[in-house]
Amino acid sequence: MTTVDEVAAFVAGLDLDDRCAAFVGGEVLRSDGDTIDVEDPATGKVLVATGEAGADLVDRAVLGAAEAFRGPWGTMRHSERGRALRRVADLLRENAGMLADLESIDTGKPLSQARSDVETSARYFEFYAGVADKNHGETIPTRSDELVYTVREPYGVVAHVTPWNSPLSQLCRGAAPSLACGNTVVVKPSEVTPLSTLVFARLLDRSGILPRDVLTVALGRGPTTGAAVVQHPAVGHIAFTGSVPTGTAIMTMAAQRMVGCNLELGGKSPTIVLADADLQKAARAGAAAAIRNSGQSCFATTRMLVHSSRYDEFVERCAEEMGNLSVGPGLTDPDLGPLSSGPHLAKVRSMVEAAVGEGAEVAAGGPDALDQPTGHFHAPTLLVGVDNAMTIAQNEVFGPVQSVIRFDDVDEAVAIANDSRYGLAAGVFTNDLTSAHALAGRLEAGQVQINRYPAGDVSTPFGGYKASGIGREKGVEAMHHYSQLKTVIIDLPEERWRGRTA
Ligand code: NAD
Repeated sequence: MTTVDEVAAFVAGLDLDDRCAAFVGGEVLRSDGDTIDVEDPATGKVLVATGEAGADLVDRAVLGAAEAFRGPWGTMRHSERGRALRRVADLLRENAGMLADLESIDTGKPLSQARSDVETSARYFEFYAGVADKNHGETIPTRSDELVYTVREPYGVVAHVTPWNSPLSQLCRGAAPSLACGNTVVVKPSEVTPLSTLVFARLLDRSGILPRDVLTVALGRGPTTGAAVVQHPAVGHIAFTGSVPTGTAIMTMAAQRMVGCNLELGGKSPTIVLADADLQKAARAGAAAAIRNSGQSCFATTRMLVHSSRYDEFVERCAEEMGNLSVGPGLTDPDLGPLSSGPHLAKVRSMVEAAVGEGAEVAAGGPDALDQPTGHFHAPTLLVGVDNAMTIAQNEVFGPVQSVIRFDDVDEAVAIANDSRYGLAAGVFTNDLTSAHALAGRLEAGQVQINRYPAGDVSTPFGGYKASGIGREKGVEAMHHYSQLKTVIIDLPEERWRGRTA
């Protein structure tokens, strides 16, 4: 599959176009009323017009997943569940080419990044296939006449509400451990990029690998369909990835029903570049944050704090890394694709303009550096002379923009790094591992990377401090966030325990 038209025809061939609002019971359910245009961000052309699941279709999607939980999935041996998840990884790999094309067109991300996302999605299923039968409890020694042990049990239906930047891998990151714990899943993907989720659900159903409705989908906007899914009484736990305001709204809804939630939210992750750092490596990391997925990544490091003795050299190298990049539609596999939508491009532009208004200088790119007749493209942009109090340093841009901030000593660098409401990740570049280790302890972030950024794998726990979230995804750790702990205490009459009576 190589063209946008072919991809749109493929989606239509799976019956997933035209008012598709939910996928449950192996069927596409359609809605009347409003439709939502899903566009190719490289051209603005509409690929598909989806419907929107109202309360009735949300009910069907959630109750379908609840029924599947009560069915064979809920009682399946853990090892058998693991084998099934391993086959889901194979299914993803068998369809990797098509899923990557689809993801590239829907999100705008360069094809090679979309391919990497599909492989990561397969790796999530592979990893959690291996831990499905290892999510065990423990025995606790209390007294001689009782036996105390813990078991980890599923919640039932887990709702996954996902964002638009990496929809398939975000879904698989949460769905794979949810399923490995024995839950079933209802997904509400972003209305901006729902296609890979829909196609994955369709492929999964057709493959027959998992019992029907172990994963169902409800489509629509957040405040309507998303809120209906989250508030549904049969949903036992919520996993949300997205912005802080939506995370707050979801946590408030969850509190009303007293259900738990994992929240993976935004970031404004700092990287400290000490005077002894490998500057080329650090500059590459600074540029990569703006280039990868056009900077539309929660995890990207977007504040480069550089020691004043190396500041000019760093800026020069980083500007060089960010210059001469190819920009184009994702399917042509450029260095940089379009942003997700017109309104998002306008927001990124206005944030760069505001930064210049507050005193930052443009060292590469800029809001008007590209002359693109169609599509939502923004040039990779390097802002220097940034002060941490500026809006650009405090708020997420979610675009191809890097900010460089100067510091004079390590304590000042730590204070600047931690002066943020976010705490998703942080980086340090230095040749002195003792300094690196000390800094890792002082940075308020859920993940700290030394001398490499980005870093991490499906096996490394991920999640935020402060406003960046609650709970952890990835790794064995995620199994604890998708299961609940039960403690069992058994009275053992002492005389029998000691073998005094038969
Ligand atoms: P968003 O919060 O606008 O939307 C995310 C999802 O929530 C979408 O599916 C949306 O429809 C839904 N939603 C919106 N309002 C809702 C409501 N009231 N009730 C229920 N659902 C609702 O976020 P976005 O713009 O799609 O994504 C960008 C944000 O996501 C950024 O802040 C980024 O940092 C964050 N993000 C975080 C991670 C992470 O792992 N920490 C990963 C990717 C993106």
